[in-house]
Parts: sequence; structure tokens; C-alpha cells
Amino acid sequence: MHIVVVGGGVVGMTTAYELNRRGHEVTVLERHSIAGNETSKGNAAQRSYGVVYPWADPAMVLKALPWLFKQDGPLKVRVPPSVETLKFMFATLRYAWSPGLFGLNRRAMLRLGIHSRERFLALEKELGLAFDGAHQGLLHLASTPEALESYRATHELLNELGIPSRLLTPEQVREAEPGMVGDGPLYGALSYDTDGTGDCHLFSQELAKACEVNGVTVRYNVEAERLVADDQKVNALILQTRNGTPEILEADAFVISAGCWSNHLVEPLGLAMPIYPVKGYSITVPLKDPERGPASTIHDDNYKVVSTRLGNRLRATGFVELADFNRDIPEARLATIRKSVESRFPGAADLDAAETWTGFRPMTPDGPAIIGRGPRENLYLNTGHGTFGWTLSAGSADVIAQVIAGEEPAVCLDAFRPGRFRE
Ligand SMILES: Cc1cc2nc3c(=O)[nH]c(=O)nc-3n(C[C@H](O)[C@H](O)[C@H](O)COP(=O)(O)OP(=O)(O)OC[C@H]3O[C@@H](n4cnc5c(N)ncnc54)[C@H](O)[C@@H]3O)c2cc1C
Repeated sequence: MHIVVVGGGVVGMTTAYELNRRGHEVTVLERHSIAGNETSKGNAAQRSYGVVYPWADPAMVLKALPWLFKQDGPLKVRVPPSVETLKFMFATLRYAWSPGLFGLNRRAMLRLGIHSRERFLALEKELGLAFDGAHQGLLHLASTPEALESYRATHELLNELGIPSRLLTPEQVREAEPGMVGDGPLYGALSYDTDGTGDCHLFSQELAKACEVNGVTVRYNVEAERLVADDQKVNALILQTRNGTPEILEADAFVISAGCWSNHLVEPLGLAMPIYPVKGYSITVPLKDPERGPASTIHDDNYKVVSTRLGNRLRATGFVELADFNRDIPEARLATIRKSVESRFPGAADLDAAETWTGFRPMTPDGPAIIGRGPRENLYLNTGHGTFGWTLSAGSADVIAQVIAGEEPAVCLDAFRPGRFRE
């Protein structure tokens, strides 16, 4: 089969890899001149298979309100909010308050996480890509005794699902992260022992090259404009090249993996696609003294900032901001991120040499991604991965390839079904 994948981010590229592995002829369409250049570029670099959870979290709703009014608070809403922002917020509240939904969706995402880890290990073994990747665990720091207490329930859930985790004392945390000598409050941590890290931008580019070597066509600088469909099938895709020449591309099947830009391609065919761009920020800095940087990755619950080791660099990431597609990078956000790094790894990184970035999590209002057959028999969706698209990319690519092959997917996809936003 000839299959067109729209989007050359980490989700589109892993999808292309899995389809190519199964013997399909694959064409990837990407509007940038390189792969992984949007949300997959500067993310927190965690492959957090044990941490994945839905965005619509009932426990977060009340906690989040005071954050809105704190200078360093992790949640921001642009004032006045747009109609799209308000719609997204109300839909989130509706899902957060649907009894039992959070727990069901969380388990579904964790199962996909387990599968994704397996697929990552296999892919890395097969292709040997260089992307500063590692699987050395992830620590959720507890900066209050209450935070540590709250991690117990997660620890039990992970045990039940067979995902290794441990509750650590502050001494054990410092043993695991010897560079963490800062004065940030520390009461212990939950250690997700099999989680990992890696530069998603590098990975996407390296995977694109490996796919091309294996026969995938990756077309850069082309914009997929519109699907041409009848009642049963998508027959073609209209695309624009950089020089403005429109082109009609026919194929046997189409996969939409266009992240935050997926809605307008699919909605004309009658499927509700409420993916909203949830903004975040990162800095990437050279380590002055690698011994004093993070050994793997930590989530500092004090500032809600993630610091991750990527070779000789440190990536620090934070904020959840509802501001539509605004790409400004206010100094105040960067200052909070720097404060977190200095409070945990003082003097480790050259913060003045920071490469700054902002990007948009392709978020669904409930949280799980949208994975499965779309509104036509040969149209498939693997998009809307929100906060965890890097982590879940390898697993979701495998299961969408299974769906396309008409096989039973390795993971139950009920929580990810494309039609759920109309129900
Ligand atoms: C601050 C922040 C921190 C994060 N941290 C983590 C983390 O630690 N771990 C984790 O798992 N996830 C994390 N994420 C989320 C993760 O980065 C995303 O879920 C993931 O990158 C989404 O990948 P994608 O391929 O779906 O989207 P994208 O990377 O945005 O790729 C979509 C691609 O489609 C292309 N495209 C769109 N429309 C068209 C079109 N019409 N024609 C041609 N091309 C098109 C775009 O140019 C883009 O390259 C974070 C996100 C943010 C913002």
C-alpha cells in the first residue's frame, strides 16, 4: 500500500518507520525543511513511560486555581482568553468531572507507555541512532512532606501494572543525583526506574534519515492543504510546495500526524478534533561542569520545572500556558526556569548561554491522544499526544500500523478513539 503521513514530527516519523517496517510504500509530508522542528524540538526530553496521565485531572482543578495568581505559578492563561481557549477550558472541566474517567484514561495511557518503551528499545537496537538517549530513570522530587505522601498512591498503581518504581529518602535522591546540591526543599522522591530521556529533535531527524535509507520518501517544505474525499474514502491530498505550486497526491491511505495543526485537515470530513495548543517553554544550556549537572532527569515539584541531562547539555522546561498560538517568550518565564535549575544544580550550567524555545503541546481536552481510524475508511489518525508525545510516539506508531493492517492492536485503544468528542 502507498501511505501518506502528514507531519514530520516525532509522531509522524515513528509512524513512517513502523509502516515502512511492515513493507508499505510511505511518503511523509512536512512543511519545515527538517524533521521534528515544531513541538518535537525543545520539549522536556523525558521518555516518561511511568508518568503519563490525562490532562483532565480532577485533583488538579482546585490546585490549579491559586497557581494562576502566583508569579512563578506553572499555569498561565492569556487575558482576555480567546473563544477557543474558553471552549477548551470548559471541555477540560467537563472531562475532569466525569466520574472515573481520569483513572480509566490513566491506565490506558500507562499501558501504551509500557508498549512504547518496548518499541523504543527495539528501534534503538535496530537503528543505533545518536540522539543523547538513555534509560536511567526519572525522579519526581517531593519538596513537601505532603507531596511525598501523595506519591504513595502512584507508587501502588505502578506496582499493580508492573512498572518498577521506588519511594526514595532525601539521602537516596542525592545518591542517585550527586550533582543536586542546591538548597531547594527536598523530602524525598518517587523514582520511576525504567523511564528514560533523549533529544526528541535529534531523534526525529536521525529517524527521518534512517527511514529515507530504508526507502521512505520524506518531502520537506510542502504543506498539506486539504483532503479530497467522497463518502467512503479519501482519494487524494492537495498540497502546496514552497514555490506556491499546488499538487494533487493520490495514495491508498492517509495518516494525520500534524500535531496542533491536525484539526483543519480532518474536521471538514465531519469529525470533531478539539486539539488545543498548550504552550510551554524551555532553555537548553551547555553544562559548565558535567559532574554537577543532572545524571538523568528530575521533576522539581517546587517550581514544576523539569531538568534533563542531554549529553553535555541541560534542558530545563516548564509552564502550561493557554495563549493560543502566541510564540512570545517572556523573560519572567525563563527567570522561573533558571531559578529552579539554580536551586537544584547551582553553578552546573552556563545559564547565560541558554538557547530559548517555546512550543505547543497538541492537547485534547480529556488528555489521551487520538489514535485510530478517522471519518473515512482509509484515513487514520495518530495525533493529539499533548504532554507525552515523545514518550508515547514509538508505541502509538506501532499500534496505528496494526490498525491499518487490520490486526488487533497490542494495546486497547478505547480511550484513544477518534469519535469520542461527539459522544
Ligand atoms: C514545553 C513542552 C515540554 C514537553 N515535554 C515532553 C516530555 O518531556 N516528554 C514527552 O513525551 N513529551 C513532551 N512534550 C510533548 C511532546 O513534545 C509532543 O507531544 C510531541 O512532540 C508531539 O509530536 P507530534 O509529531 O505529534 O507534533 P509536532 O512535533 O508538532 O509535529 C507535527 C509536524 O507536522 C507538521 N505539519 C503540521 N501541519 C502540516 C501540514 N498541513 N502540512 C505539512 N506538515 C504539517 C509540523 O510542521 C510539525 O513538524 C512537551 C511539549 C512541550 C511544549
